[in-house]
Amino acid sequence: MDLANRVKTLTPSTTLAITAKAKELKEQGHDVIGLGAGEPDFNTPSYIIDAAKKAMDNGLTKYTPSGGIPELKNAIIEKFETEQNLNYSSDEVIVTTGAKHALYTLFQVILNEGDEVIVPAPYWVSYPEQIKLAGGKPVIVEAQEQNEFKLTPQQLEGAITDRTKAVIINSPSNPTGMMYSEDELRDLGEICLKHDIIIVSDEIYEKLIYTHDVHKSIAQLSPKLKEQTIIINGVSKSHAMTGWRIGYALGRKEIIKPMTNFASHSTSNPTSIAQYAALAAYQADEDPTIEMKKVFSERLDLLYNLIKDIPGIECIKPKGAFYLFPNAKKAAEMNGFNNVDEWVQALLEEEKVAIIPGSGFGSPDYIRLSYATSNELLEEAAKRMKRFVLNHK
Ligand code: PLP
Repeated sequence: MDLANRVKTLTPSTTLAITAKAKELKEQGHDVIGLGAGEPDFNTPSYIIDAAKKAMDNGLTKYTPSGGIPELKNAIIEKFETEQNLNYSSDEVIVTTGAKHALYTLFQVILNEGDEVIVPAPYWVSYPEQIKLAGGKPVIVEAQEQNEFKLTPQQLEGAITDRTKAVIINSPSNPTGMMYSEDELRDLGEICLKHDIIIVSDEIYEKLIYTHDVHKSIAQLSPKLKEQTIIINGVSKSHAMTGWRIGYALGRKEIIKPMTNFASHSTSNPTSIAQYAALAAYQADEDPTIEMKKVFSERLDLLYNLIKDIPGIECIKPKGAFYLFPNAKKAAEMNGFNNVDEWVQALLEEEKVAIIPGSGFGSPDYIRLSYATSNELLEEAAKRMKRFVLNHK
């Protein structure tokens, strides 16, 4: 069958091949340790689950407005007012089916055929594919490890053409865990203002920071930058709610309104029950991120110290999210592999440790390790990785 051209250019998720292989090995009875997870291993807090049950009992199981229920929009608006001193009105917010669909809808709305979006690598796997699905062209700019994998103003200037429509800033970043400072954001922002480039600010990991760094949105830096920026966020990572699929976008209504129209013909609305659950998450006095942060921070220290002790693996310490992004090129070479992808495959086959190769994030010399799993498993995984590097012939 002749399928649509747009799917022919889609790159299958690189995580899929590894996950499928890990599953196969598990089914054969092997003791596989997975460090591939892109989600917190905590349960959704019970008060959030209770709110969803209550919504069901109260019959709140019908269609909702496409852009989200007013109560949740108001709770989001309030969060941004109190936490970030940013003021948005109701028509400047859209609740979506996860942050992923906020991004998808945004690209559908702002991109014409051939429009370019600057994507700093290492990048989250879905950005380039979503841009392509909207007819756009991802312009990948390799951010350097010595710059903590962050886009520099020179790199941004150098990548701009007369087709550039937007740039993505993801801070804290998946996969690197790095964060932009206020000064760095200001410098990038100035360039975006000068060239009228939309800033897509993906802040989904804002609550998971383990240093004294404070999360700042580029939209906070000036009224003009707020106007230029679309903020993407959601409850998936902050409240361990990945499966509920609630995210949102905030920005000028000229963009949010067509996003809402687009959603009305694609998803209709995010699941009603999940919206009430997210409302409870934002209205609660409890902050589940405090406990999650404590645990993640300890695990980060544990895994970081174990990993940097492995010959041939070099790693800078992340500040946020729940991933390490070490360079494994030397280890792959020492073990006689042509590239890190092959090394990752062999590590899974021989030592039964599943990690994600950096190629999927646009940085093929690297690997991504998620520490959203127990200390025991992290210790065992690091032990096996070290054994593999030292013993593989
Ligand atoms: N943005 C980044 C950087 C992510 O890592 C993820 C999820 O892994 C998302 C967006 C999507 O989040 P959601 O699960 O809310 O769709």
